[in-house]
Amino acid sequence: MPESTSLRVAVDTPAHTTVGEPLTYLGDVALPAGTLVRVPLGRREVAGVVWSAGEAPDPAMEVEFKHVLHALTSLPPLPQRWLELVEFTASYYQRGIGEVALSVLPPELRKLDDGQVRQRVARLHKALTAVPAAPDVAPQTAPTLSEAQQRVLSELSQAASQAVAPTVMLHGITGSGKTEIYLQAAAKALAAGRQALVLVPEINLTPQLEARFAERFAGRRIVSMHSALTPSQRLRSWLAAHLGLADLVLGTRLAVFASMPRLGLIVVDEEHDSSYKQQEGARYSARDLAIYRGKLEGATVLLGSATPSLETWQRAQEGRYLRLSLPARIGDGALPRVRLVDMNLQPRVKGGAVISPPLLDALNQRIACGDQSLVFLNRRGYAPVLHCGDCGWKSACAHCSVWRVFHKLDRTLRCHHCGYTERVPRACPDCGNLDIAPMGRGTERLEEQLAELLKRPDGTPARIARIDADSTRARGSLEMQLGAVHAGEVDVLVGTQMITKGHDFRRITLVAAVNPDASLFSSDFRAPERLFALLMQAGGRAGRDAAQAERSEMWVQTWHPQHALYAALRGHDFDAFAATQLDERRMAGLPPFSHLALLRAEAKTAEAARGFLQAASRLAEGDAEAAGVTLYQPVPTPIARVADVERMQLLLESPSRQSMQRFLAWWLPQLHHERQARAGHERILRWAVDVDPLAI
Ligand code: ADP
Ligand code: ZN
Ligand code: ZN
Repeated sequence: MPESTSLRVAVDTPAHTTVGEPLTYLGDVALPAGTLVRVPLGRREVAGVVWSAGEAPDPAMEVEFKHVLHALTSLPPLPQRWLELVEFTASYYQRGIGEVALSVLPPELRKLDDGQVRQRVARLHKALTAVPAAPDVAPQTAPTLSEAQQRVLSELSQAASQAVAPTVMLHGITGSGKTEIYLQAAAKALAAGRQALVLVPEINLTPQLEARFAERFAGRRIVSMHSALTPSQRLRSWLAAHLGLADLVLGTRLAVFASMPRLGLIVVDEEHDSSYKQQEGARYSARDLAIYRGKLEGATVLLGSATPSLETWQRAQEGRYLRLSLPARIGDGALPRVRLVDMNLQPRVKGGAVISPPLLDALNQRIACGDQSLVFLNRRGYAPVLHCGDCGWKSACAHCSVWRVFHKLDRTLRCHHCGYTERVPRACPDCGNLDIAPMGRGTERLEEQLAELLKRPDGTPARIARIDADSTRARGSLEMQLGAVHAGEVDVLVGTQMITKGHDFRRITLVAAVNPDASLFSSDFRAPERLFALLMQAGGRAGRDAAQAERSEMWVQTWHPQHALYAALRGHDFDAFAATQLDERRMAGLPPFSHLALLRAEAKTAEAARGFLQAASRLAEGDAEAAGVTLYQPVPTPIARVADVERMQLLLESPSRQSMQRFLAWWLPQLHHERQARAGHERILRWAVDVDPLAI
């Protein structure tokens, strides 16, 4: 019998308990921290991670600890730094350690026993070593670097030699060759015997990037990690990284938790992108965790973007991050000329002009000379609402505080929040009027209208493709549609912001934003930042081929052509935009000059949700102020009701991150009790805290 000792094991304790810390079990002395185990929890048997090996159990203790049932000893334990990353995540985002640990491990690991794991590992070794070490294909050689690229790389290696783990902001306009910097930095890490982790915001962008890395690093092992992998693919990638067999890991936000024993470089591409923020469970920012992880692992962190987040930008200004820039496109291609169409001066058309006459002309001209155009609108479906002109009826969702969207293709009204779908009524449900009409427009309607208006030189209709969440639902359909665009089978590509990101289109010379104004006056303080990034990104799709760059244009239809945001866009002047935004944020005490958290509550009634938040506020009275944290009044969330659940939120603000952290750690455990103790009050369904929320 192996000697017994007490171990602290992180398990995913059931929700609504206050226990977030690892639990004590008895186990084999030889089980080091980081070992995956199975343990009894209540009546169940669950997966866990040995967090620390304790001393021999104290015989005087009254509690009888349970024994570890099974251990995956064939697998090397998770590295200490990985445990530290998880522990930090749990404490920063106010979740349980076990909850975080188990949610970021591949789900298959919870199911397999040691024998099965040993088999998988053996199979993986065999498969990977069967690959000839000398590649069949000669690795693609790097292009001759531009001067700017050379400068960036030499500053990067200088920084890495001076600091153990520098955080670097790489501000490079679209097409400036940032990816080449990632490739070179990765090559350097690999040459030093280390692993590199490359994060991208969207799954759609992984195949493209994977192809570029695979070309450059033939003979090296590259794995991808994102949520579209099957469970067994995900396990395979994870094992390859954990065992140190994979040199490169490419993935979306969850890959920030890949176990990598020799991590030397973390790249966060498009670091400003909101998909880096997890929106449920532990609401972590993979970008922020990447920075923390870099420090833990002694790895360089490279944050790349044409439009850095204002948080990152401000830190670079303060000298906390090294700031490197690629100010010009490769081949000195010009950035698209920005043209603002003042919609106040355009003829009024019944139902609202979709495409102004000058933009229509420009599109027709592009078609005539064989160029492609991209037209985007951030709204899918045919029209955002159906409306009865007689009685004022609108297509509200019965379960949410939003309108249901009219989809013409299948003649349905669909709620984009709860999914509630019905056939379009023949007549107004309230007054029987037969003439109910769509109001506003989505991509479906835009596509239809463009098809009517645009012609090819031979008089046939223009070839229009639409890419949005609806048109790409079927597996492989996105690739097919993108393929058609690349092959030149499409004249005009219509879509949501899905088409504005990352894609390397070579024949597009005109990009148009049809109706971007809404974000200018949004109550969300980050809306302008997102809009500016989106428009810069979108503009970056035009003229990527240097030969066409001269005639590339970005069109923006707006009712507010004087707005400072558009002026900065016109000059491609991110610095000016960032400076004005940061001034506003500083005056208003908003991030990055303060730290926010949101407490959200959900209940069947708004009163119950509000009651809980008010009680939470009362608990904090006095203490919050002493801690330097301001609590605001509970308010409904921007979409107050979804699927018959009412949602309220309470904003917390503090000038100091540490104060906010200390306060939350003191306050939240009490809320668990408060929730239980609210007998006599209507129960709430859920509550959760969002630290550093993206939208408020
Ligand atoms: P970004 O990521 O900044 O938008 P990319 O890295 O995709 O830019 O580079 C834009 C294009 O320029 C790509 O087609 C890339 O292959 C090419 N490119 C990058 N660096 C060089 C270089 N030094 N010489 C020639 N072409 C380059
Ligand atoms: Zn009516
Ligand atoms: Zn709904």
